[in-house]
Amino acid sequence: MDLSVTRRTLDFRQELRTLLTSPDTRTLLDDVHARRDGMDGDVRPLYRHLGRSGVLAPSWPPEHGGRGGDFTETVVLLEELVTHGVPQSLYYISVQIVGSLILQAGSPEQRAALLPRLASGELSVCILFTEPEHGSDLAGITTRAEPGPDGGWTLKGRKTYNLKTAYADLALCAVRTAPEQSRYEGMSLFLVPLDAPGVSVRPLPSLADEQFHDVRLTDVKVGPEAVLGAPGEGWSLITRMFAAERSGLDYYVRARHWLDLTARRLLAGPAPDGADLAELARHHARLAATRLLTCRALQQLQEDRPDIASASMSKWHASETAQAVSWWSMEALGLSALGPPGPGGPHGPEGPDGLGGPDGPGGPDGPDGLGGPDRVLEAAFREAPGMSISGGASEVLLDIITGARLLDDVETGG
Ligand SMILES: Cc1cc2nc3c(=O)[nH]c(=O)nc-3n(C[C@H](O)[C@H](O)[C@H](O)COP(=O)(O)OP(=O)(O)OC[C@H]3O[C@@H](n4cnc5c(N)ncnc54)[C@H](O)[C@@H]3O)c2cc1C
Repeated sequence: MDLSVTRRTLDFRQELRTLLTSPDTRTLLDDVHARRDGMDGDVRPLYRHLGRSGVLAPSWPPEHGGRGGDFTETVVLLEELVTHGVPQSLYYISVQIVGSLILQAGSPEQRAALLPRLASGELSVCILFTEPEHGSDLAGITTRAEPGPDGGWTLKGRKTYNLKTAYADLALCAVRTAPEQSRYEGMSLFLVPLDAPGVSVRPLPSLADEQFHDVRLTDVKVGPEAVLGAPGEGWSLITRMFAAERSGLDYYVRARHWLDLTARRLLAGPAPDGADLAELARHHARLAATRLLTCRALQQLQEDRPDIASASMSKWHASETAQAVSWWSMEALGLSALGPPGPGGPHGPEGPDGLGGPDGPGGPDGPDGLGGPDRVLEAAFREAPGMSISGGASEVLLDIITGARLLDDVETGG
């Protein structure tokens, strides 16, 4: 794997740091955090502000609102957003997961209409896959779309445990369009406007700051342009999307931020004991491995050779590492992880490859002097359990990994 970092990527990190510490950005960010108050704040004004600076889709082609860069710029972007306290999930779902799928599989009209608006932060998308009876078993979904005489479709069903729906304009929705075919063949993906008649959205409480939603689709009418790819091709698109969602990037950047905050608090207090230092080193090493796995999965996508087993490894490793970091943070810092912050520590150096590896972002401190709002580690502790469930539960990922690798062994006689 080629991990050399270009001057361009280093310059991009600097550009982001300037943008993310500018007074305009800080004002909008303070506003998001002031309104959050333990709930899911509206981050869209901040995204639109960042989008106007053209930084949100670094690896997309310029004609679609991107900068024509490579995957290392996407890694840098996510690292800097999270380090500077920008809530990343609505952005990540909209641009990196759904937007990237539209870039790959959308019609020319869909790409022209949607990608520039996604890249500018004007449009947001959520994902409606899970149903009350079907999560890991996605091929069992029962929400269906029936064709109409005008080429349009009517959607009926219920989706649950989706994030960010209250702030999204569109939903990427998995439905069954041909119930008589096999579980995999009869599926399709639709881009459904969430303000369409028949869509109702109800919030569901969550242990984490971000609430879930329960969505009912009651005879929702959409036009033929709402289908992503061809009708019936949904499963292959979902597999492709999973390869992107499971790169683990979104999990790695949060784990890295949490470890950085923990290390800075630990090192700013009374001399930590040897066991804590050893554990800190172990987490750093794990995180370095996570980053390599994530970069490998992203590079495979960039080269148009997505590998679901390799992406599953990456997501599994990233989410398990993030959980371990969060648990350890509470053990090492005790109550101080929940209470007022200690004094800010020094900025960590950038990684040797200039990507800002796990030894520290070198970014500016947040309002508490520790790189973010006071309650980041407490919120992380509540968020971490969901990380080994969202985007593919750990047991299911292990099943995919062993299945694919055992098959490799059988095929190669190993
Ligand atoms: C933080 C978070 C965010 C989410 N965001 C979204 C979203 O935006 N949109 C959306 O559509 N959904 C979302 N989900 C839902 C998520 O995709 C599902 O929760 C997930 O797919 C698991 O499905 P389930 O909850 O039905 O559990 P189940 O599939 O019933 O799994 C229950 C348990 O059984 C295990 N299991 C299941 N099948 C197997 C198997 N074959 N082998 C071994 N073990 C197995 C699982 O690992 C798990 O431990 C989110 C979930 C979380 C926690």
